[in-house]
Amino acid sequence: MRNKIAGKNDGINKKEPSTTEYKPKKNIFRRIKSLLKQKSNLYIRKFKANKKASITFLTGIFAFAICLCLLSNIQVGYAVVFNDKTIGFVSEKYSTELAINEIYSDIETYAPDENISITTDIKPSVAPDMYFKSETEIADIIKANLDFYVDACCIVIDGETKLAVKNAEEADAAIQGYKDSCVGGEGEVINIEVKENIEYLNCKVVYTTVLSVEDAIKTLHGAMAKEGLYTVVEGDTLWSIGIENNMPTDYLMELNGLDSEFLNIGDVLRVTHPTPMLTVTVEKRINYTEYIPYETEQIYDKNLTKGTNKTTQKGQNGENYITAVVTLVNLQETNRVIENTEHICDPVKEIIRIGTKPKPKTAATGRFGRPINGGYVSSAFGNRSRGYHTGIDYALSYGSPIYASDGGTVTYSGWSGGYGYMIKINHGNGYETLYAHCSRLAVSSGKKVAKGQVIAYVGSTGNSTGPHLHFEIRKNGSYMNPANYY
Ligand SMILES: [Zn+2]
Repeated sequence: MRNKIAGKNDGINKKEPSTTEYKPKKNIFRRIKSLLKQKSNLYIRKFKANKKASITFLTGIFAFAICLCLLSNIQVGYAVVFNDKTIGFVSEKYSTELAINEIYSDIETYAPDENISITTDIKPSVAPDMYFKSETEIADIIKANLDFYVDACCIVIDGETKLAVKNAEEADAAIQGYKDSCVGGEGEVINIEVKENIEYLNCKVVYTTVLSVEDAIKTLHGAMAKEGLYTVVEGDTLWSIGIENNMPTDYLMELNGLDSEFLNIGDVLRVTHPTPMLTVTVEKRINYTEYIPYETEQIYDKNLTKGTNKTTQKGQNGENYITAVVTLVNLQETNRVIENTEHICDPVKEIIRIGTKPKPKTAATGRFGRPINGGYVSSAFGNRSRGYHTGIDYALSYGSPIYASDGGTVTYSGWSGGYGYMIKINHGNGYETLYAHCSRLAVSSGKKVAKGQVIAYVGSTGNSTGPHLHFEIRKNGSYMNPANYY
């Protein structure tokens, strides 16, 4: 039974049950059923006597059928029936009804006099996941089956009919929308010009070719694509190349006969570059800040120690405030005229002083040397039976020279209780060294000493049982193990 559309406002015929069933599903079950029948018959024929085996076999077949149902992900929803044919399944009834109602109202608007008769029905059903569709897909299937002609407004560009929209207002909106999209970013538009001659024509076109304003703008932007070549570079994917060329990945693969998405660097692909149907020239005034980069001056300074650089003046970019008129042709800048340059500030030169003065011998090198020649470690750093040892003891003959472990300033030279005669050097980098139990001191407090310079001689003064050097390295006041430094 068929319904005439005219006069039927809700559009969807809910009363008539469709006779069409969902074929694929039926076929599957029918096939399983017949397979089961055939096979079991065969089985029973072959092993008639063995009833037990036959029951086992049937149980297996049923289990298999149940698994098949579970695997195929049966979903509960609605079957959409169009002109007595099931065209797909949806999970949402209401939104599908809305989408279909829109088609009915389109038919009434555009083809009230056409004798179009269609039926649709949405009824509860179950089907495998894969047969479910969105309401838009359902609407598209229905539209594709409606090939009636409707009154429309054709947009004619340079004498050629390019696209059709509902009416002249929508054509205006599409052209204006396209122009607006060619302005690109900020600025005061001075002039917009379309090179091509545009005319509107009342025309009759197939219902489905009438574009929405949005789709018309997209079409104007370049549905008619010219083909080009693209060479694959590192980091490219089909997706990124597609984005760049306004092509879906599927189409890119089809055009190039690819069956995998794997690309090699250097591959040459055929691509289509979107070619806009209209050439829009936009002139606009823009304002922006132009930066004038600062210069850097290096000055050699003999008062500064070698290896030390000092920025004595921080650099700063200068600024100009620019007013310019730019010309864009389909968003590509083709011309820029600077109208006005307002100078905001000059750049400030950066000055870096580079030290050339050789380092004094008495400056710390940052690396410690052994304070004695020869001898042996008579007591190591750290825990020992007589308590924590704050340095290393080197035993060697009385009067042997003691050398400064690194350059620095002598901060103590004299008697210091249990340490006996002692020297302390501050190296100026957070480190101090200490030399104890000396027999004689060779430098006085306040003196600058170079690394390796003789500062004292080995003795056994203070709390000592024999000639040795007690040597300490202190970092910011903490005792360090000298063995880790040389
Ligand atoms: Zn010691």
